[in-house]
Amino acid sequence: MKQCLYDLSFYEFGVWLANQGQKPFRTSQVFDWAYKKNAGSFDDMTNLSKELRTLLDGSFHLGPLPHTATSGDQGATKLLVKLPLGGEVECVRVAMGNTFTACLSSQLGCAVRCAFCATGQMGCERGLDPGEIIAQLITIRAMGGQVSNVVFMGMGEPFHNYANLLHAIRLIVDKRAFGMSPSRITVSTAGVAPMIHKYAEERIPTELTISLNAPNDELRERLMPGVAEWPIAQVAAAAKAYTKATGGQPVTFAYVLIDGVNDHLDHARELAQLLRRQPHHLNVIPLNPVSHTDLKRPSRQRTNAFILHCRRSGLNVSLRRSKGVDVDAACGQLSTGLRAA
Ligand code: SAH
Ligand code: SF4
Repeated sequence: MKQCLYDLSFYEFGVWLANQGQKPFRTSQVFDWAYKKNAGSFDDMTNLSKELRTLLDGSFHLGPLPHTATSGDQGATKLLVKLPLGGEVECVRVAMGNTFTACLSSQLGCAVRCAFCATGQMGCERGLDPGEIIAQLITIRAMGGQVSNVVFMGMGEPFHNYANLLHAIRLIVDKRAFGMSPSRITVSTAGVAPMIHKYAEERIPTELTISLNAPNDELRERLMPGVAEWPIAQVAAAAKAYTKATGGQPVTFAYVLIDGVNDHLDHARELAQLLRRQPHHLNVIPLNPVSHTDLKRPSRQRTNAFILHCRRSGLNVSLRRSKGVDVDAACGQLSTGLRAA
């Protein structure tokens, strides 16, 4: 069976080529074509011999994945891509001014099972291979325009697929591959505290978002059962460690606001007590509608009152309105109806 070219690092691919008796400089040539020149097939690689192209073609696949795309009028396009190893995931291309952000999935489903998230209703089938993560970016890039940012906010919990996520991030920042600055990449986690510490030690200064969604352990356990084993205090400490290890930029805490559930002013006060004394940015996201739940988005007045209270209590807070609700592509709305929870 053919391997996915994007599963291999520059070094690993170099070793593969060397084992085939090829010269080292061929590694950069192929990487240039694959990552800088958007090659969709080995036949495009015109400075390689016909013989080498045939060898590569018999061993690897590359290029955009088969997909269907749905565009809305808020600048978001949702892609349902077919994975080489089986199954389908969703990813999203979001217009941000003149460039695009690629929102990528890391797993087929998610085991955290958040009450407010469509992906959480699917359960988790498997983590994606590095090449399957990278191929989503390749597919989005092939749609044209400049992809300036990557966010791991699609389906799945990135830190439940740690090794493959890390491999993919290394390829995205590798100057011989995509060469994107780490500051243009955001990893979003539900708060897997030990993996936040581990990721901090890698010293890749990407942005980090921690989806907190509750100001105390009791409520968090109800809303996000799959991460309840790490109390909020441990998650907050891991965030501090991340900031320290990566040069001081604050972690963003995401807080999905749900009517009558986590939007009382007491919750804002509790949140402030928790975060005020550490570097932070708080992003409040009014709930996007998902089926199979009767959870509701709070009114504008309640949302504004919550935000104002956070601000007055010393938090650095902003309101995020998600793009893509018109095509069910906004935060928390991705799902492929794989199986019932
Ligand atoms: N599993 C990771 C990344 C994917 S979810 C995580 O949870 O961080 C990306 C973001 O969407 C998270 O911040 C999550 O809190 C948010 N989200 C999930 N469901 C949502 C919904 N129904 N409305 C608004 N945001 C939601
Ligand atoms: Fe998983 Fe994130 Fe959805 Fe929770 S919000 S179920 S962690 S994808």
